[in-house]
Amino acid sequence: MLLRRLFAVLILLLSAGCASVPRKPVVDIPAHGLVLVEICRRDGITCEWDGLGQTVAVSSRENRVLAMVGSTLAFSGERQVTLSAPPLLLSGAVIVPPDLEAMIVSSAGKAEVPRWIGRVVVDAGHGGKDPGALGVNKAKEKEIVLDIARRIRDGLVRAGIEVIMTRDDDEFISLADRSQSGSRPEVDIFLSIHANAHKNRSARGIEVFFSGPLNSTDLADDQRIRNGRLMLSSLGLENSSAELRRIVFDMLYASKMSASPRLSAAISRHLSGTIPDSRNRGSKPARFFVLRHTLTPAVLIETGFVSNLREARLLTSESYRRKLADGIVESVLEFLYDQGL
Ligand SMILES: [Zn+2]
Repeated sequence: MLLRRLFAVLILLLSAGCASVPRKPVVDIPAHGLVLVEICRRDGITCEWDGLGQTVAVSSRENRVLAMVGSTLAFSGERQVTLSAPPLLLSGAVIVPPDLEAMIVSSAGKAEVPRWIGRVVVDAGHGGKDPGALGVNKAKEKEIVLDIARRIRDGLVRAGIEVIMTRDDDEFISLADRSQSGSRPEVDIFLSIHANAHKNRSARGIEVFFSGPLNSTDLADDQRIRNGRLMLSSLGLENSSAELRRIVFDMLYASKMSASPRLSAAISRHLSGTIPDSRNRGSKPARFFVLRHTLTPAVLIETGFVSNLREARLLTSESYRRKLADGIVESVLEFLYDQGL
């Protein structure tokens, strides 16, 4: 029944030809909204309406923005963005918020990209019954990383970024809960903070990880599916069509896979510049649980080896933790600004 109805909508839209964007409505337009078809005519940009997926795509030569009816989640190129209001269908016309138009015409110099608040999840690894790695100087990873995470939070908050901590105390948080914190539409970045250990005590340096491409087993993982449901319900799309769900998840995946390696490389590069006495072990793909199952861009930073005496001492010093946190904050801010914050 549902399929037949969707098929009928599709036929209707196709038979309307290229001007398949629904026309101007006879009802009053909400104060915040613009009629999609008028934007396209006025700005000379291309608008596409997919009635099956309930998606709107607006594109110029420089950029393409994809948005969904009823949701503030949108994608500018491969970047995940939040609209000021969800696109609506009113009397057969698509109504969109003005910032959607600004995103597309700004690249042609006609309007400014709107500013929005960045939100970062800072995830201090381990905690409670899980001490993490134990340092040669008896330092515990869970204590080192909580202190660094708090400094990162303070630096980001000072810069006007909203921060969500997965823990702000010595408590145990499951990997599932951590990955859920990074699977909400309002989150721009998930940062997981750890310290490394190796049986070879000469191993040292900072390394930053991101998720490589996921295989079909990863994509079907129970936790990933639970996080997907959480994302859809936060977007008000829990009863949406399978087609729309597929579009949302494909775009989220593309956004995460494009942003995470860039952020990881930026942090790695920045830290090697600001902390030259530490060895730069680079930016690499890895299969950590929180990297695979968070739906937003995610990186995991190994801030040094507690199994190496020199680095264990550095990681327990306040000045080194401050340098690390400052370097991470600066690279995150640069990344967010580059993304158009
Ligand atoms: Zn760890």
